Amino acid sequence: MDKTGIIISHNYMNHNPGLGHPESPDRIKSIYEALQKRSLLNNSNIKVYEPLIALTPEVNLVHPEDYINKIKVLCDSGGGPLDLDTFASPDTYKTALLAVGGGLTAANKVLEGEVENSLAFIRPPGHHAGFSKARGFCFFNNIAVLAEYLNKIKKFNRIMIVDLDVHHGNGTQEIFYSTPYILYLSLHQDGRTLYPGTGFISDIGSGEGEGHIVNIPLPPGTGDKSYINALKEVIYPLSDLFKPEVLLVSWGFDTYHRDGLANLQLTPQAYTELANILLKVASKHSGNRLIILLEGGYNISMLGNLASNVVAALAGLNNVYRETELVEEAGIERYVKKLIQDLKIELRKVWGQL
Ligand SMILES: [Zn+2]
Repeated sequence: MDKTGIIISHNYMNHNPGLGHPESPDRIKSIYEALQKRSLLNNSNIKVYEPLIALTPEVNLVHPEDYINKIKVLCDSGGGPLDLDTFASPDTYKTALLAVGGGLTAANKVLEGEVENSLAFIRPPGHHAGFSKARGFCFFNNIAVLAEYLNKIKKFNRIMIVDLDVHHGNGTQEIFYSTPYILYLSLHQDGRTLYPGTGFISDIGSGEGEGHIVNIPLPPGTGDKSYINALKEVIYPLSDLFKPEVLLVSWGFDTYHRDGLANLQLTPQAYTELANILLKVASKHSGNRLIILLEGGYNISMLGNLASNVVAALAGLNNVYRETELVEEAGIERYVKKLIQDLKIELRKVWGQL
């Protein structure tokens, strides 16, 4: 068995939200070029797959039919805006179906035993999309459809979604707010300082899903040290209790310190370390089933290298693109430690002492 599957396609460049829009087709080009340059497309540990397009009933696991049709009709008539920053072009509908399909393909390759783990380099991204709401560059919620597919079709009853995009995945949170078979853990820049303005520690889910929404809103300036510590402090004890049968990741590379859309301060080598933490959790609880979907990441010249660090780590290769370490601003470390303490207090009534 090969270790890692990559799902990618030039067809992901067919959705075009317009000249100058940060969620540009060139993001896929950047990933292709870096993978090629770092010899990750012809490595014996890595297999590259074309995605299968998703079928309407699959998308319908999350999104109502009239919403799916609305996107199709808009694209058939030439495209147009769905919110202030979410624009459909004529090929957006098809590309968005292919993005959902890329996630499903990534999972199927793992479940069929072809690879141990997988990454789908898909666009448009998905985690801001609600049941019937395109927003924040997103049309269909790729990771939510994948999670429902794994539950409804593949019968997994404990699915953990880790969201490492710099923006809170408000769509994913809304969709799964009272869903007991999902545990959604998001690290993001504090909503008081960044779009979409949601994702606070007091949002913990409701009803049967109480305690299954976990938000870590980080202050602007958070760097490698506090970010990695925050993830470890929460994901290790929580996964020991939840015991995920499969680990899904919404991965955005807009946490990078030179990303134009946000203010976290991660360096490239942090992505290697984060991947290793996720591998550890997947190995302990999930039979190594780790499936990663691309969300954001808008520094076009670096996106490929950041993503390639994750590919290399998943494939067990020592191939790390590094930059000079950055020192966090004074006070960040203390702030984040206190935040994690407060979060654990919020979660105590459901999970006990984490
Ligand atoms: Zn983002």
